[in-house]
Amino acid sequence: MLTLSNELVAIGKTASDKADAIAQAVDLLSAAGKIDPRYGASMLGREKVANTFLGNGIAIPHGLAKDRDLIHETAIAVLQLPGGVEWAPGDTARLVVAIAARSDEHLEVLSNLTDVLSNAEEADRLATTLDPATIVARLTGSEPAPAAPSVTLEDFADGFTAIVEGPHGLHARPATALVELAKTYQAEIRIRCGETAGNAKSLISLLKLGAKQGAELRISADGPDAAAALKALQGAFEAGLEDEDGADEAPVHVGQAAATTATATYDGTTIQGISSSPGLAIAPVFQFAREHITFAPDAADPDAEISRLDGALQTAWRQLDALYEEVWKKTGPAKAGIFRAHQEFLDDPEMVEAAWDSIKQGRSAAHAWHAAFNERADILAGMKDPVLSGRAVDLRDVGLRVLRQLAEVDSDATALPSAPCILVADDLTPSDTAQLDPALVKGLCTASGGPTSHTSIIARSLDIPAVVGAGAQVLDIASGTPALLDGQSGLLVRNPSAADEAFARAALVDLNARREAEKRDCYKPALTTDGARIEVVANISDVSEAIAAVEAGGEGVGLLRTEFLFVNRDEAPSEDEQVGIYSAMLDAMNGLPIIIRTLDVGGDKEIPYLKMPVEENPFLGERGIRFCLAHEDVFRTQLRAIYRASTHGPLRIMFPMVAMTSELDAALRIAEEVRAEIGAEPVEMGIMIEIPSAVMMAPELAAKVDFFSIGTNDLTQYALAMDRMHPTLARQADGLHPAVLRLIDQTVKAADAAGIWVGACGGIAADPLGVSILSGLGLKELSVSIPSIAAVKAQLRQQSMADNRALAQKALAAPDAAAVRALR
Ligand code: PEP
Ligand code: MG
Repeated sequence: MLTLSNELVAIGKTASDKADAIAQAVDLLSAAGKIDPRYGASMLGREKVANTFLGNGIAIPHGLAKDRDLIHETAIAVLQLPGGVEWAPGDTARLVVAIAARSDEHLEVLSNLTDVLSNAEEADRLATTLDPATIVARLTGSEPAPAAPSVTLEDFADGFTAIVEGPHGLHARPATALVELAKTYQAEIRIRCGETAGNAKSLISLLKLGAKQGAELRISADGPDAAAALKALQGAFEAGLEDEDGADEAPVHVGQAAATTATATYDGTTIQGISSSPGLAIAPVFQFAREHITFAPDAADPDAEISRLDGALQTAWRQLDALYEEVWKKTGPAKAGIFRAHQEFLDDPEMVEAAWDSIKQGRSAAHAWHAAFNERADILAGMKDPVLSGRAVDLRDVGLRVLRQLAEVDSDATALPSAPCILVADDLTPSDTAQLDPALVKGLCTASGGPTSHTSIIARSLDIPAVVGAGAQVLDIASGTPALLDGQSGLLVRNPSAADEAFARAALVDLNARREAEKRDCYKPALTTDGARIEVVANISDVSEAIAAVEAGGEGVGLLRTEFLFVNRDEAPSEDEQVGIYSAMLDAMNGLPIIIRTLDVGGDKEIPYLKMPVEENPFLGERGIRFCLAHEDVFRTQLRAIYRASTHGPLRIMFPMVAMTSELDAALRIAEEVRAEIGAEPVEMGIMIEIPSAVMMAPELAAKVDFFSIGTNDLTQYALAMDRMHPTLARQADGLHPAVLRLIDQTVKAADAAGIWVGACGGIAADPLGVSILSGLGLKELSVSIPSIAAVKAQLRQQSMADNRALAQKALAAPDAAAVRALR
């Protein structure tokens, strides 16, 4: 526990500006020997990139993570400025809580502050008290938080009544319009809805009214310009309070938008896929290929080239025969039939003759064949009939099969873009996606895959707009074709018009402005309007992301996907290497906690050197904890590394894909043996809840662990029996399906009964509707990709937990995912 002593609290001070206030707080800290005075510059540096004003007159300046070496000992100093100082335009700070944190002791102080944030009277008491001990007692929690006084404001004599017209009631946008207008008058203005009345100059107070569509409001005012204020406010109500339809109320961000439909219309040829990562990109298409094929353009001996081509055609024919047999045996004639169709292409006399003609003119067999099949595939791809245009993919597939025998093939040479592009691929493996340079890949579009596939997860974490499951037709768009990708609407637009581009650029400016605003407040806690706190933490997979998570306002890491430390290499990281990585992450978190999930390979996360079994149904095979229990050496090495790193900061261990209590027992036993060997302190242990059997056994599992984290991506695929990578089913595999929500509800109830907390780390935790429903179901922590942190916090700060609970109950009772999405 952090001890805050009276010497570190300065009462009744004045400051000329923010920099002066920070300098005074820094003096307090350095005089007490807690920091090097240079830490002050770091605090000012933080202010340049973020607003540390939390609300109710409280600001929490703190330095940049990179400068924590300037901290000798974690400490907090409080500068009381009863007269206030402007912290940011419109924000006056009266209590400056300067934080120099090496580890996590200050979090308790911050959490005590969150009560003050929702209680204006308490904030005022602390900003004016003459006794430093009052502040010390309040911030260290030794004095309990007083209950927020209930507001019993009387209406003023002069006023008018108005009806709330908008479909979403008096939500943030119209309320903001009211507050902004009210603030331009000196008069005191009150707005009453039923029993509750609020100050029209306070957004929180207006949102707390909970005024729904059709509610009657009484607006009254008192003061020198009361009449003018009332007239202006009445005009604003009559004009609709800038509330078109409330449709864009929620921050623009998408976690898993499985049910997203197009919301924008474009002139260019649009291809509808599934929204996977929001944002817009305008750039030429780049077709991603894992192999690089080269050939000489010309050849001297046409007869030899013709017989090479014949040989290649025959080999391809035999390969297709073999494939037909194999697939027929495994899955029957329907799927095998495609290879018979491919053989038809090989037999196409017109195409083969075109190649021969070209060879006779001096071209190599490879060049002639390449030109012949590509020319025909281009014509097919351009056809309006989708069935015919879809055949272009087959023709290119069979064409390449022949070409590979005529040319040099470098199958390890993944073609990566060298200029800005919208990268198009059939699907991307996690290792493909991890190699992408976000500076060049402006957008990502895959023919298959779904919003919970790892391609989507990584695209979101890299903040690359992405559309998945767009169908094979996208593979036929030639590299270099101008395109526009609308991640929010799930659209790829081929050859966009000038108007399309102008529309997208304008939308991008809006989106960036909104994100900037959210980012500026990213360190404010996610405290709902009725005072409930949800921890918003990050999903990460490497050290650089740990640093980025803290910078983005993450209050910790809720999911470290350690399997990504194992990809794109030839052997597993050694124990020492892992110790280095986990320690560096913990150091970067500067005292905030990390949940380290043990290796979760299998499914679509294949690691070649781990020699994983070849399985018919890898998602139902040796995945997650099953793999680790079957490969105890790999598991023990990782656990040893985790426990060795545990001295660097607070960490928790989480096991993935636990289906049965016996698996958990075995994993806990091994972890305990490893811990004892190392002599490390115990850490909190938890499990992912992502298999329906774990939900059913949640009471038994909860008795053995400290927390649960719901993996909604897998829970959805296993509950609905829809492969999270499936090209067509992905659209329906929505984590907001009531079946999934009921499983989550059941899990929370079991956890509550056992006294443990529940979080969520699947994609739905960042979906705007998911944020409301999951918090309403009782989840205490949402772990999301780094770019979503600020947006999720901003959204929660605009909502009340009471509303979210009510929404969650409605969602549980809904008949299907579409009905849940319609609750928005
Ligand atoms: C999940 O399944 O929701 C989850 C977070 O784990 P992963 O996506 O890594 O399987
Ligand atoms: Mg999972």
